[in-house]
Amino acid sequence: MHEMHVVVLSGGTGSVKLARALYRLEQEGSVGRSNCGCSGRSDYKHDERIHLSIVCNVGDNVWMHGLYICPDIDTIVYGLAGVLDRVRGWGIAYDTFNCLAQLALLEGEQWFMLGDRDMAMHIVRSRMLREGRRLCEVTGYVCSKLGINANVLPASDDHVETRMVTDRGEMHLQEFWVRYKGTLDVNGVVYRGVENARACDDALHAVEEADTIIIAPANPVSSILPILAVKELGDAVRRARSRCIAVSPIVGSSPVSGPAAKYMRALGYDVNPVSIACMYREFASRLVIHGTDEHYADTIRGMGLDVYTTDILMDDEHDELRLASYLLSIR
Ligand code: GDP
Repeated sequence: MHEMHVVVLSGGTGSVKLARALYRLEQEGSVGRSNCGCSGRSDYKHDERIHLSIVCNVGDNVWMHGLYICPDIDTIVYGLAGVLDRVRGWGIAYDTFNCLAQLALLEGEQWFMLGDRDMAMHIVRSRMLREGRRLCEVTGYVCSKLGINANVLPASDDHVETRMVTDRGEMHLQEFWVRYKGTLDVNGVVYRGVENARACDDALHAVEEADTIIIAPANPVSSILPILAVKELGDAVRRARSRCIAVSPIVGSSPVSGPAAKYMRALGYDVNPVSIACMYREFASRLVIHGTDEHYADTIRGMGLDVYTTDILMDDEHDELRLASYLLSIR
């Protein structure tokens, strides 16, 4: 059976919906059962085995309490392991927050939520990094321990930081979004350290070998562009443009969730699928937009992208599988 190499460029909460559906299809193809916490089999019939690699944004990584936290990687890892809290979209389901409460007693109010079980991930990762292991090795290690049979790869092993330029000065994306709840005005976005960041070798290799590259429905500014800003990776995706398909995170004039509208406006973009096409046109040859956005299709085609319209909202596992299957069918 031919193996189809699928690479997903991924952020966190939006991307994981698609990533776990693709993972389920991969698992059904190879072992005939799902490891993603879903019940039953999907009705997607594929005559090719899927080999899935997920290249994760590292721009929201942050050191806190002496621990290295990788929110997007962790969301993907927990999503594939079937333990993600689906309501919050981050962290482990049914986790408790006793350690955080104790930290608050010792150090004052904590603005970044870290669950007790989640903490184990950060402790192990930080120890391994201090021992000199690379982030991709650490991620591979935790995936193997959690029984994940897909490549979850950081875009880079180097530290890149997405920082928001606000009236209160420049700050880490997490501080802007979690501490200040996204309330400050944003004047710009910078990816600190990206010019010196090397691509993770395995991520680069996966992109070069991919039959299909899928840009997940994700925040373009805080999840996807920081991946593509890692020069070697961006160049590799540009070279693979004909094999790259993007899914819009915008329906009509709003993101499905989160602060994408604010970030896009800060970069001077209107909030609509045409702007998504504009941001991705050098990297992707195809864009999938929502059925109700058909009226944008001609404009986007005029920008040199093929356009596909379908239901791109993923409210449950069924929606996730439907979109994942659709993307594999139109490659
Ligand atoms: P983050 O790292 O937690 O911000 O997560 P991502 O970047 O992976 O995803 C956030 C983006 O996903 C937001 O811009 C949402 O508009 C988009 N999104 C969330 N759910 C969906 C969905 O069901 N369909 C589509 N098309 N986009 C979604």
